[in-house]
Amino acid sequence: MKPATRLVHFDPCPRDPYRAVATPIYQTATFEQESATELGRYDYSRSGNPTRTVLEDQLAALENATRAFCFASGLAAIGAVARLLRPGDEILAGDDLYGGTCRLFSRVLARSGIKVRYADASDLQGFRKAAGQQTRLIHVESPTNPMLRIVDIGALAELAHRSNALLCVDNSLMSPYLQNPLDLGADIVVHSGTKFLCGHSDVTAGVVAVKDRSLAEDLYLVQNGEGAVLGPFDSYLLLRGMKTMGIRIDRQQANARRVAEYLVRHRLVTRVHYPSFADRRAREVHARQARGDGSVVSFETGSTELTRRVAESTRFFDLTVSFGSVNSSINVPSRMSHASIPSDMRSVVVVPPDLVRLSVGIEDPDDLIADLARAFASASRESVAADALAKTN
Ligand SMILES: *Cc1c(COP(=O)(O)O)cnc(C)c1O
Repeated sequence: MKPATRLVHFDPCPRDPYRAVATPIYQTATFEQESATELGRYDYSRSGNPTRTVLEDQLAALENATRAFCFASGLAAIGAVARLLRPGDEILAGDDLYGGTCRLFSRVLARSGIKVRYADASDLQGFRKAAGQQTRLIHVESPTNPMLRIVDIGALAELAHRSNALLCVDNSLMSPYLQNPLDLGADIVVHSGTKFLCGHSDVTAGVVAVKDRSLAEDLYLVQNGEGAVLGPFDSYLLLRGMKTMGIRIDRQQANARRVAEYLVRHRLVTRVHYPSFADRRAREVHARQARGDGSVVSFETGSTELTRRVAESTRFFDLTVSFGSVNSSINVPSRMSHASIPSDMRSVVVVPPDLVRLSVGIEDPDDLIADLARAFASASRESVAADALAKTN
């Protein structure tokens, strides 16, 4: 099955006597047992729930994994992966990273004696040098967020395996529809299901998927042992959202390309970050490992003030953190989505203060471009007026 077909063709309720075509929501905490000595397939919803199982099986199929595990949020999923480490172990992470992941690594995991180093994962040689004796986990995103740099997943898998470490790829920005890191050699793929999997900004969810069976058993121990599981209703919402992921992403991506091309030509834009506009080597790596550019575009204006005004002036781009929804959104990462980067980390994880990140939705692209044009015009008028005022004062 091709990805678009697989999104809608799966068994929605295995062994269900009524053969419902949508997955029933098993909103129950416990399951009655036939015998006191032998437990049935389900006994308690932290350990397993039929609605969650359908979702986990479908996600495993989409990522070509043997098993997938769903958590209450993307960070809970990444936290579960970090539980595979022991005190003294080190994480080597890409330096353009979701802010919350950085906070988890640098502030929460530090308390249990796990160390973390950051390096630019799009620079293979530099990244290789940053790996240490104690590195047991390499954690990257590709494309990175918000700078949209391309990381060679296959090359990093080789590096990880030579160093007796696991490679974990956060695939939230691409979704399984556009990229499958396990096929490229990664050991673990994680998702913030809050983004493209859900697609409607109404659930927070996280996913971990793996091919290796013993790794799967370790992760199940963590999922059941700590209990940060996704509830039945949220599992249902994610299953429902994922059915339209293909057409959503096709449309969002086509819109994003139009927006990116518009931005490249705009006189107030100094740089546009989008996989197709990266240098040749990066473009080749991305084309080899992904099936499209996605729908997140970021750009710089050279002015923090102008950036703020543009972000506050759009009408169809909601001023919100997050991405991957049917609605377009606009965000100033240094002040919003990446503000959770600890202050002592700001020299390592560098987000330009004038950077704007767009998540392009499914609206009519003409409306989106007209909206940006209006926002630039009103933001630059305000800037000129502010300059004039400063001069007369
Ligand atoms: C949002 C996000 C996360 C965290 O996911 P939550 O569901 O918000 O906990 C992790 N990684 C990336 C790339 C994200 O965009």
